[in-house]
Amino acid sequence: MEKIAVCPGSFDPITLGHLDIIERGAKTFDRVIVAVLHNQKKEPLFTVEERVRLIKEATSHLEHVEVDWFGGLLIDYVKKSNAQTIIRGLRAVTDFEYEMQVASINKKIGPEIETFFMMTDNHYSYVSSSIVKEAARYHANVDDLVPANVAKALKAKFKSV
Ligand code: ADP
Repeated sequence: MEKIAVCPGSFDPITLGHLDIIERGAKTFDRVIVAVLHNQKKEPLFTVEERVRLIKEATSHLEHVEVDWFGGLLIDYVKKSNAQTIIRGLRAVTDFEYEMQVASINKKIGPEIETFFMMTDNHYSYVSSSIVKEAARYHANVDDLVPANVAKALKAKFKSV
């Protein structure tokens, strides 16, 4: 059986921390689907289409990695994709509390779907999309926190701010 994992998130935008998790996931599973959550209630900096494009460009060197988006329940999307696993990255204890809640509810809704957690690489333990956006908004250099195409896209977004 092909081992398929879904790596879900907002990815607004994708950071090197995310990319590290995706790369390691791609070594562990036959196929990884990076799934961008389209949340009507949130106001992201990048549209779903932009986020998908940025991830596609940043993962173009990785075989067996696909990029998609979804709305609604993650478990429904995972089942529809014929995946068996959800991959999530863990940074600090603060992530743990939230991730445990989400994993528990997902286990309740879809008992056959397993959640895998991967510890962040030490280099990226402090990297988050929100920190990156905050820094980029004030024109700080984020070149070592995000893929090159994302750094460029951030510069374009905040050019006139
Ligand atoms: P969400 O809004 O679902 O938390 P994010 O895009 O912020 O989506 O994150 C997606 C996943 O990537 C989450 O599991 C998150 O913990 C993980 N992640 C985010 N940043 C890092 C990082 N620097 N290192 C490892 N994992 C990370």
